[in-house]
Amino acid sequence: MAPTNRRVRFEGMGCVRCQGGTVVEGWNVSDQAWHDAAGDRPAVIAIVTGGSRGIGAATAMLAASRGYAVCVNYLRNATAADAVVAAIQQAGGRAIAVQADVAVEADVMRLFEACDAGLGPLTALVNNAGILETQRRVEAMDAARLHRIFAANVTGAFLCAREAVKRMSTRHGGSGGAIVNLSSRASVLGSPNEYVDYAASKAAVDTLTIGLAQEVAQEGIRVNAVRAGIIDTDIHASGGEPGRVDRLKASVPMRRGGTAEEVAKAVLWLLSDEASFTTGAFLDVSGGR
Ligand code: NAP
Repeated sequence: MAPTNRRVRFEGMGCVRCQGGTVVEGWNVSDQAWHDAAGDRPAVIAIVTGGSRGIGAATAMLAASRGYAVCVNYLRNATAADAVVAAIQQAGGRAIAVQADVAVEADVMRLFEACDAGLGPLTALVNNAGILETQRRVEAMDAARLHRIFAANVTGAFLCAREAVKRMSTRHGGSGGAIVNLSSRASVLGSPNEYVDYAASKAAVDTLTIGLAQEVAQEGIRVNAVRAGIIDTDIHASGGEPGRVDRLKASVPMRRGGTAEEVAKAVLWLLSDEASFTTGAFLDVSGGR
């Protein structure tokens, strides 16, 4: 049965969110959005944008293994998204796949509404969807390319953050939550001769992280970013160089690229209560580069 998203009073039973047996206000959700099957833990519900492949897929699966119900967003690759959902469900977790282009406002609205209806009230957003384009110097970049990069990487992150805040902020009747933005070491290094546009879009994501963290710090929401280094995913092929990790690994102090799973662990830590006093922070997962 779909949740109704109506605020009601809950009887807490040793629940962290219910503060150990007191009666508190919360969402009326029939399918255990607040409590897991044992009834003694608040349920956690996450949207992972770009959750069908790479870092997003690893994050979705790790989140599910830690008890999150996961909304796996994707752009085009329904097969990959369905495989992530199937893996989560086979392991006993809850997940749905939702196609939506994060650069399109109506799609973002539909994505969050699908998560509300399919899983329950949101407690976490991983702003992971991101693109880069073929390597080239700035003097060869046209406006259409810049619009595509900034629409997906910056507008998308802003729109998703907006919808998450509307649902999670205590200012809007929510119960709090956490946002993790996928930034890149490129925001600091600049990616010369490859994709300065992408690097600049990640610098905008860094600024979103700093500003939004302060805006919602008193509303129960933490906002942090992981700045990933060179991670072995499909994204390098979309930049025209599938072997980029091998070419650059000698420049990494640890002399290797990272895995999507290594990034996912950092994301999950920032989402977790173990990071309860961490907001507006950047965690570099880059092997020292
Ligand atoms: P990836 O393997 O290319 O996967 C990209 C994912 O994003 C896919 O699930 C794709 O969906 C989805 N996506 C792309 N555009 C989208 C849009 N407009 N709306 C919704 N979903 C969209 O990328 P990745 O390497 O895992 O990167 C994930 C994030 O980490 C990105 O933000 C990237 O900038 C960042 N990052 C990556 C690295 C790295 O070295 N890999 C380093 C630093 C930061 P489909 O499957 O449907 O295409």
